[in-house]
Amino acid sequence: MASPKRVSKLLAALLATASLSAAPRAFAGDQAPPIIRDTEIEEILHKEVAPVIAASGLNANDVHIYIVGDNEINAESAGGQNIFIFTGLLEETENPNQLIGVVAHEAGHISGGHLVRNEMRDAGMKPFLLTMGLGILAAAAGNGGAAAAAIMSAPQMGALGSIGYSRSQEGAADQAAATSLEKAGISGKGIVDFFDKYRYEEVFDNARRDQYFIDHPLSEDRIEALRRRVESAPHYGETDSAEAIKAHELMKAKLAAFMQAPQLTFNKYPASDTSFIARYARAIAYYQATEPQEAVKQIDALIKDYPDDPYLYELKGQVLFESSRAAEAEAAHRRSVELKPGAPLLLINLSQCLIVEGKPAQLDEAVEDLHKALGIENGDDAVAWRLLSQAYDAKNMPGEARLAAAEEHFNLGQLRDAKSFAMRAREMLKRNTPEWRRATDIVLVAATPEDVRELSRADSGQQ
Ligand SMILES: [Zn+2]
Repeated sequence: MASPKRVSKLLAALLATASLSAAPRAFAGDQAPPIIRDTEIEEILHKEVAPVIAASGLNANDVHIYIVGDNEINAESAGGQNIFIFTGLLEETENPNQLIGVVAHEAGHISGGHLVRNEMRDAGMKPFLLTMGLGILAAAAGNGGAAAAAIMSAPQMGALGSIGYSRSQEGAADQAAATSLEKAGISGKGIVDFFDKYRYEEVFDNARRDQYFIDHPLSEDRIEALRRRVESAPHYGETDSAEAIKAHELMKAKLAAFMQAPQLTFNKYPASDTSFIARYARAIAYYQATEPQEAVKQIDALIKDYPDDPYLYELKGQVLFESSRAAEAEAAHRRSVELKPGAPLLLINLSQCLIVEGKPAQLDEAVEDLHKALGIENGDDAVAWRLLSQAYDAKNMPGEARLAAAEEHFNLGQLRDAKSFAMRAREMLKRNTPEWRRATDIVLVAATPEDVRELSRADSGQQ
């Protein structure tokens, strides 16, 4: 075990974020399960599923895939074009083809328009409309990304569990999946194999069923209808490439190593296993076991063999940062950014080190990098907003700092806090600047009618 760390006050505040934000980092609204963000995993996932999403008639750039850090076997579509895949389901897929099949099925629910009706019926009309209203207002205010974030952090995320599609919707989504898989030249074998593995769930009552099969009820007839369809498709014999299979295994191993007890990782990947994935998973497990020195040693050995892998530097930076070695962490994160320029999460990691080190030039660089990352993510990153707020505070720019804090809470769907930070930002910022107007927009979006009256009285008093 590592000895207790001596940390500065600012570092302690940052660590409160970082303890959740270990790459893959997870963050959540008040009640939502954590959404996991990790550049490497997102890249693998996107590469796997983009072709079938495009073939389903949806725009792969408009469809947001969120990884939910939860061991439950579940995947849901929600709020227009968002697909939530639980890590429990990811871990259960034996190969890319199975996961692609599940995503094709979810895309079938989206393109079939099954979602809106279900959400209104089951998730409750009022919160759904409230969130969509926020999304529309946020989009009008030039921050479209907040819409998806509000959806994922809103209470109805919890209600998603009870969506439940009808038998005819299941059949339609299966048929749509088979069509888009074939169109993309991908076998439908995986989705049938995946469902087949859970065929026994059909006989359970809901209390014993996995959530995914409560919402997407399996039946013998359903599986057989799908099997007949995909087996007759010309591309049924297509298989995953060796490269895709390896990437899928890496994604599963990385997620498991971050989410499980380290001992489970050490059991699965004993030291005798010298494959890249095993070494990578063990390095993460040492980090999870609070053995940073051993973790860094293992990562350095990996870097020696794979010097161009940006994610090894990212992991090293993460371990060093949490060991209060910010300057060394900065060097590692800087290398990850060099190897993978323009990846927002890598820029955010680097910024976090720069803020802790806190020299004026470093703070300037952090602000610049955070704005760049937020630009790429369409403002949809609460952690980046929080760091930006800290950077502005360190630069003695309290109005900008309050505005960034307002953005952070707005992004998490915490409207009361968003409003109060935005009100304070308005008092500190110069009137009629873009920042002051943005603060006003947030107040208006998050305000009650009474707030709006008060605001207009206050503003007219200042004219
Ligand atoms: Zn379904």
